[in-house]
Amino acid sequence: MKKQMSLKWKIARYLYIFAGLLLFILILFQLFLLEPMYEKYKLETMSNIISKAIQAMDEEGFADTIYNISSMDDVSIRIYDGKKDIMAGNYGSPLYKMKLDELNSLVRKTSENKGEYIQKTVLKHSDGHNEETKSMMLSRIVNRNEQPVLVVVYSRLSPMNVTLKTLRIQLLYIAIMLIIAVLLLTYVMNKHIAIPLIRINKEAKEISEGEYDIDESTNEYLEAQELNATLLQASNDIVQAEKAKRDLISNISHDLRTPLTMIQGYGEMMLDLPNEMNEENMHVIIDEATRLSYLVNDLLDLSKLKENQIHLEYETFDLSKMIEGQMKKYAVYEVNEGFTIVSEIQEGLCVYADCNRIEQVFNNFMTNAINYCGEVRKVIVRVFLKNEVVRVEVEDFGIGIPKDKQELIWDRYYKLDKTHVRPLNSSGIGLSIAKEILDMHHATYGVESQIDQGSVFFFELPVGTVANVK
Ligand code: ADP
Repeated sequence: MKKQMSLKWKIARYLYIFAGLLLFILILFQLFLLEPMYEKYKLETMSNIISKAIQAMDEEGFADTIYNISSMDDVSIRIYDGKKDIMAGNYGSPLYKMKLDELNSLVRKTSENKGEYIQKTVLKHSDGHNEETKSMMLSRIVNRNEQPVLVVVYSRLSPMNVTLKTLRIQLLYIAIMLIIAVLLLTYVMNKHIAIPLIRINKEAKEISEGEYDIDESTNEYLEAQELNATLLQASNDIVQAEKAKRDLISNISHDLRTPLTMIQGYGEMMLDLPNEMNEENMHVIIDEATRLSYLVNDLLDLSKLKENQIHLEYETFDLSKMIEGQMKKYAVYEVNEGFTIVSEIQEGLCVYADCNRIEQVFNNFMTNAINYCGEVRKVIVRVFLKNEVVRVEVEDFGIGIPKDKQELIWDRYYKLDKTHVRPLNSSGIGLSIAKEILDMHHATYGVESQIDQGSVFFFELPVGTVANVK
């Protein structure tokens, strides 16, 4: 991965680019565009003056108007009809020093130039100061009583050198101030934007190294606060997952050790005491080995389900018949352990699902009902049609599940009673397997339970048509 520039430097870079751009615009306008813009403005003023002068020509007090205009705008005006001056004043101005033949040549140039002519003059002074005087002359020809008349306006252009010198010094100060401002801004933005992110980043790295303590005190700005909260959440989740994993390992180890100890104990006893070599003891060994293989199979199943390695084999089958078949298995509890197992199964209800997997879910519900039935050794199994879905319920009247734990029991690592020793072949992850299977079927499922009253575990599947399955 290409190494990226740190946020600190990025902020500084953009601020410097911004300051540079600002300075560039200032230099462009103040040093380079000032003179052309001034000349353009001056030309527009002179053009307006000519228009005013032409307008005033036929009015009374013409001479006064011209005099006022020229003194107000500091320009000289000369109006010439081809033979003589109609209006002239301010004889000191270079405009009035123009001879008649020069005026005539100006008339010619103006008429050749579509009636308007601009002439710029630069006069260099030879007094050693390298100074120059610039002036501009704008002439226009108008028709007056069928007679062409030349109107000329002359103006000196203010020298720019001094202004430009002042501006240059000003720009230098502005540049220095901008650099200081950028430095200050970089510092402030770093403190408030980059530093919290750097700290959160450091904490994230620490999480990956197994250090889960996150500082909660970020209050600089919303995004950093949210990022910190997310990190905190992630770290808490990891801590919980780690704990759950440790719990799972310790539970599984415990569950593995119990049958293994039994197998080992019985095996050694049978070896040492030849008269213990009997069928009953061998059954104990076989039962414990079976329990072990259940546990291992369940674990493998769950991990495959979690990783989507198991594909459901959909078929339309008679759910009522399948459950009736399974019920025979549990009759033994009625005979041997005094259970009452009631079946209320509506006949002939078909569903489109994976038969073996649904059987697995049902058996898990049954095993749990028998496991957690408490003193009242009664289990009721119901299968019935309800609003176009087939509902399967397994009810017991045992210890029940607290409301706040009813969501959690479907989690892989969650167990209500940590010290519980399972009397049946149960791995402790049966409900998470059931959840995965039912989720894959997009089925509705859940538990309704009250402490010391019992629980009803249920699932619902649509009546079996292919179209109902996603
Ligand atoms: P196991 O029963 O082997 O511990 P499960 O995943 O099947 O594992 O069940 C998870 C937990 O849910 C159980 O440990 C138990 O605390 C609770 N539970 C499940 N079924 C019942 C039930 N019918 N009555 C009371 N608690 C139950």
